[in-house]
Amino acid sequence: MSERFDLLVIGGGSGGLAHAQRAAEYGARAAAVESGPLGGTCVNVGCVPKKVMWYTAEHAHFHAHAADYGFDMEVRGHDWGELKRRRDAYVKRLNDIYEANLDRRGVEYIEGYARFKDANSVVVGDREYKADRIVIATGGHPSIPNIPGAELGITSDDFFELEERPARVLVAGSGYIAVELAGIFNALGTETHLVIRKDSVIRSFDATLGQELMVMMRASGISLTTGFVPASAEKTDDGIVVTSEDGRRSIPVDTVLWAIGRGPNTAGLNLEAAGVETDPDGFIPTDLYQQTNVESVFALGDVTGRDALTPVAIAAGRRLADRLYGGMEGRHLDYTLIPTVIFSHPTIGTVGISEDEAREQYGDAVKVYTSTFNAMFYALGEKKQRTVMKLVTAGDDEKVVGCHVIGEGADEMMQGFAVAIRMGATKKDFDDTVAIHPTSSEELVTMR
Ligand SMILES: Cc1cc2nc3c(=O)[nH]c(=O)nc-3n(C[C@H](O)[C@H](O)[C@H](O)COP(=O)(O)OP(=O)(O)OC[C@H]3O[C@@H](n4cnc5c(N)ncnc54)[C@H](O)[C@@H]3O)c2cc1C
Repeated sequence: MSERFDLLVIGGGSGGLAHAQRAAEYGARAAAVESGPLGGTCVNVGCVPKKVMWYTAEHAHFHAHAADYGFDMEVRGHDWGELKRRRDAYVKRLNDIYEANLDRRGVEYIEGYARFKDANSVVVGDREYKADRIVIATGGHPSIPNIPGAELGITSDDFFELEERPARVLVAGSGYIAVELAGIFNALGTETHLVIRKDSVIRSFDATLGQELMVMMRASGISLTTGFVPASAEKTDDGIVVTSEDGRRSIPVDTVLWAIGRGPNTAGLNLEAAGVETDPDGFIPTDLYQQTNVESVFALGDVTGRDALTPVAIAAGRRLADRLYGGMEGRHLDYTLIPTVIFSHPTIGTVGISEDEAREQYGDAVKVYTSTFNAMFYALGEKKQRTVMKLVTAGDDEKVVGCHVIGEGADEMMQGFAVAIRMGATKKDFDDTVAIHPTSSEELVTMR
């Protein structure tokens, strides 16, 4: 006997749960299959525990500047184990809340690993479930380099399992996860080495952000090596040593962390049985309506290879439910102008296209405004850290097509500006907006 639903979601992470719950609110009979803890990557090994670690690093940052404000402070240490216990307990509370939410909305929670049987049915353990529509929201996993000794390293998933802070770490990677985790280790006192393949970090963003971040990371004590492509890792008496393709050897470290990208969770789904196609890397392509090449099968979130962010997965899931069950014909997620924050030290906030992309798209019709200054936070002390802002505008009316900030408070700055830019704000609209003083964000409306 098989059970039948209107829709079945594979993956109880950000996107899958958002879709199933919204569909259930519209009255659909929905089920969600999850093989791990509810909440997926974001809640368990992503945004949430990462932000807790970032806050921990921020405490260290404030302690370092406390004397500038007259505090006579001595920090006697930091208990990583205690922090982990508290963080794990918080994540567990969230897992329980997610389960209660499913129950409250009448979504059937199926624990286990789903494999397709055909385009309208999946098998979980020894049970079969049928649905009119199946949504694949299985997310992704950290990639590990295919080199000898790779197993000596850990991934971002394992980072959250560390019971103690390593004394020396080598982080390999240049994306946002690499710079965020390197920043956390460094702020908490680990000797931190970041090795990157090319010449800059976070290369998919405006070039200024990567260049500035590298300067600031080095100034904060991180050792950063460019053009370093790991070729092997080995255990020595002093620790793990990573050797690059051109023969350079890293110093020995206690922990190597691979942060070299993420792949999709599609290998075990038996997609062939449903006829669902993937791209060469295993991601599932969809149209703007999250439709795969099979009529009854949809995909959303990280597994599609589009902007791998929690709010993107959630928005895609909710809009799909609005369209399929809420009568909102044509509703879909617009994948342009997605704002994002990198929780580096300092943080980066960005929305829209980079200066290079704007020049490619608009040629000479691009005008760029920049501002570099020391945030007031550093006014009383000797040690400064600059903030850099860039507004990219296009056309005679100077429509703002990109806004990029690195510096104190950039993380909380960008959401409101993203609304304005989405609405088509021009430089004049920015200029006509009265500043909030004294803040860093006021610089964005006073640039000349
Ligand atoms: C270290 C790190 C930090 C991050 N920080 C941020 C951040 O600050 N902000 C942000 O917006 N995003 C962040 N992200 C990205 C964010 O976590 C993802 O974009 C988001 O979780 C994607 O949601 P999803 O629903 O597509 O997949 P996921 O949340 O990964 O959920 C997929 C779920 O599917 C389950 N699953 C897989 N296969 C099966 C199967 N066959 N059967 C049953 N279940 C299955 C998995 O167990 C998983 O729980 C971070 C990610 C990482 C790794």
